[in-house]
Amino acid sequence: MRAIVIGGGIVGLSSAWFLQTSGWQVTVVDRNDFGDNCSYGNAGYVCPSHFIPLATPGIIRQGLKWMWNSESPFYVEPRLSWPLLRWAWLFAKNATAERVTAAAVPLRDIALFSQQTYHEWSSLPGMEMAYEKKGLLEYFQTSEKEAHAHHVREDALRLGIRAEMLTREAVQAMEPQTTLNIKGALYFPDDAHLYPNKLMHSLRSALAGLGVTFKGNEIVKGFSMDQQQIRQVVTTRHRYDAEAVVLAAGAWSSDLVRQLGLSLPMVGGRGYSLTLENSSNNLNHPAVLMEGRVALTPMDGNKIRFGGTMEITNTTRAPRMKRVKGIIHAVERYLPDFQIPFPAPDKIWYGFRPCSADGLPYIGRSSKARNLVIATGHAMIGLSLGAGTGRLVSELLNEQQPSVNLRPYDPERFG
Ligand SMILES: Cc1cc2nc3c(=O)[nH]c(=O)nc-3n(C[C@H](O)[C@H](O)[C@H](O)COP(=O)(O)OP(=O)(O)OC[C@H]3O[C@@H](n4cnc5c(N)ncnc54)[C@H](O)[C@@H]3O)c2cc1C
Repeated sequence: MRAIVIGGGIVGLSSAWFLQTSGWQVTVVDRNDFGDNCSYGNAGYVCPSHFIPLATPGIIRQGLKWMWNSESPFYVEPRLSWPLLRWAWLFAKNATAERVTAAAVPLRDIALFSQQTYHEWSSLPGMEMAYEKKGLLEYFQTSEKEAHAHHVREDALRLGIRAEMLTREAVQAMEPQTTLNIKGALYFPDDAHLYPNKLMHSLRSALAGLGVTFKGNEIVKGFSMDQQQIRQVVTTRHRYDAEAVVLAAGAWSSDLVRQLGLSLPMVGGRGYSLTLENSSNNLNHPAVLMEGRVALTPMDGNKIRFGGTMEITNTTRAPRMKRVKGIIHAVERYLPDFQIPFPAPDKIWYGFRPCSADGLPYIGRSSKARNLVIATGHAMIGLSLGAGTGRLVSELLNEQQPSVNLRPYDPERFG
């Protein structure tokens, strides 16, 4: 049985892994050469603590304020686009306390399931990913964010996720090599992190060893249909016969399914990162700067990565360097000993997060094509949920009972 996976990001490669190991003959097709996509330069958090979706009450007011600051962590490029307007309308509709509460259990369940998969992978011979379970610190500087951290901690404990409030002194003792300009932190001891670049390379070579075929520099343009099934996946170079198709094309997925008559409200949310090697600026634990909305991750022994910003923009737009300055300035406000030289443009990485309208991924079958499984829309937590999503994809195509309730992820929930 042949399966075509569209997209060589973490979701596509994880799907390929679980399909190939369960007897499918998998081909992964990507528009690029498998050397980079959103799954490479991210912050590497594998984080059950992230059970709050992007659409939260107050985000729109805050976002509007940030719109006028070129270094701010959030920006929506104003443009007349029907998909963008529809996404924004649905996003606003979902930014309520009730929806956030309803999203927490599904996000926790898939995150724990996925973390377990990374844990298993990390002990496989040859699967290098620098996986570490050291927890995650969320630094706050203001009373407002401290109060928010208290609420998040209570919600986490209700969900069975361990969370502790730490004083500045306690955090400083965990990070003795640098001065922390913080009021305290919320600590999630059970979060993990990894080095995404290493994971992606390892996964790819492991898949090649298992017999998966990779077709790079081929853009999937469409599908040849018969009796509500995809018979062929049509690319710029070939037509591939398929008994099953997995759509894991990240921020580009909605363009592809539109031609099947399916609406998948989604936008690309650009984020930037820079990675220092053998730097004297380092930390022992991954950290989120709550007010600054920046992620810092010490990874793979001698590296530290700084990542952030959510820029809803066209995927062809040139990078905005002022946003990178914003990341560096935020780090310096919390960690005054850190001196980060502004990197050369080729050292600045960026990627587009596939942002669904309600912060929950789209995972499931589609009524438009019976042999298609959609797996995308993971926004800020696609690395964290990626391995678990791949496993769920294979459970669906193998007609097994999914390990996680998939109803909240229905790709057709917006009609
Ligand atoms: C700065 C930053 C920090 C982040 N930090 C974290 C984090 O710490 N933890 C976390 O969980 N998540 C994080 N994320 C989010 C995470 O990186 C993404 O959610 C995840 O990588 C999405 O994976 P994906 O496989 O869905 O998409 P991608 O990795 O984007 O892969 C999609 C692939 O599909 C291909 N494609 C698209 N269209 C076509 C087509 N028509 N034909 C063929 N191929 C196609 C693309 O070329 C691409 O290779 C972060 C993101 C950013 C930007």
